[in-house]
Amino acid sequence: MDDENELLRLEKCRKIIRDLIKKKGRKGIYDLTGLAGGFKITEEDKALLETYVGPAIYSEELNKLGLMHLRGNENHKAVGFNRTSSAILATILAIRPKKVVHYVPELPSHPSIPKSCKIIGAEYFEDDNVEEILKKIDENTLTIITGATMDHKVINLEIMKEIINYAKKKKSIVFVDDASGARLRPLFNQPSGLELGADLVVTSTDKLMDGPRGGLLGGLKELVDRIYTVGLSFGLEAQPPIMAGMVRGLESFNLDKLKKAYERAKNFDLSALDDLNYELREKDEKINISYEKTPTGFVIKKVTNTENNTNKLIDIGFNLLVDYGIITITVAGMPRASKSLRVDLTSKDAERLSDEEIINAIVNSIKNAFN
Ligand SMILES: *Cc1c(COP(=O)(O)O)cnc(C)c1O
Repeated sequence: MDDENELLRLEKCRKIIRDLIKKKGRKGIYDLTGLAGGFKITEEDKALLETYVGPAIYSEELNKLGLMHLRGNENHKAVGFNRTSSAILATILAIRPKKVVHYVPELPSHPSIPKSCKIIGAEYFEDDNVEEILKKIDENTLTIITGATMDHKVINLEIMKEIINYAKKKKSIVFVDDASGARLRPLFNQPSGLELGADLVVTSTDKLMDGPRGGLLGGLKELVDRIYTVGLSFGLEAQPPIMAGMVRGLESFNLDKLKKAYERAKNFDLSALDDLNYELREKDEKINISYEKTPTGFVIKKVTNTENNTNKLIDIGFNLLVDYGIITITVAGMPRASKSLRVDLTSKDAERLSDEEIINAIVNSIKNAFN
């Protein structure tokens, strides 16, 4: 699907959400993306959201809380960007590598990385095979590692260590795209990217935490300064309201809450999907519902083994939205982001639905897409 059709899909989704909210209010909507945002600013904050006053106050707090979150040290610094994608673009524009080598736990990567490389004409290579990645790293390479994919597949820690150590030996700068990984990886007791020796790490304050969509970039001071300067010249940096929201989101972040969602996900009964698969295959043998659990929910990646898989997933996503008010990234995500149907139990709205209600809504929405 090209970007223009993707925009139509997004606009259709926004109209449905708007109409549902007009009819039923916010309670008629269940955002299960795990990306619902959050804006916990206080009255005092509101008075400070000015162009020059805001950054004076929040840059210091963002640096302090950001470094705590990313577990950096005195050699590091943290700054705010408008989105994770903006931080990625600024990083690639500032470093201007000849070559970018990108390890992803599972293909494909987030589109912002290859697209940013295209802008500067850098050679780009991504793979989920460590050997292929290591072969291509030299001193002209920017090495990027995705800590957890858009579908929440988490990197193997030994692989992450191996790539970081090898890249450092080869004098290649290491940048970790830990958009969701900065919070998913601690569930598996993994150290932070900076603790493992990466030069730069970016995370999204919107993913698995109650912050606004913003990109928190942390890393070696001199590198972060260079990247932030480029970001400022292209308007990629977080503005005062986003900075304040990021600060309050980081302040209220609670790993225990995430652990609860992790437990709920582990016990979540998905057998209804197997039953449905069996039932539908009687009618059409091309149907194959493939799903897996994620650390904090589950993801349906395929519903058929035909080329139209993505379209079917989008149909199912729209059924979920229209009939149940359930928002997924399948229909609400940015152009070319993952079309997988992912349910994230860290979402605030997931607390208002039982496991049974969620799975029944999904089963019915899949059934309707095949009628
Ligand atoms: C979400 C995500 C991004 C982009 O975040 P935005 O806030 O949408 O810009 C980049 N990389 C990965 C791995 C992601 O999951």
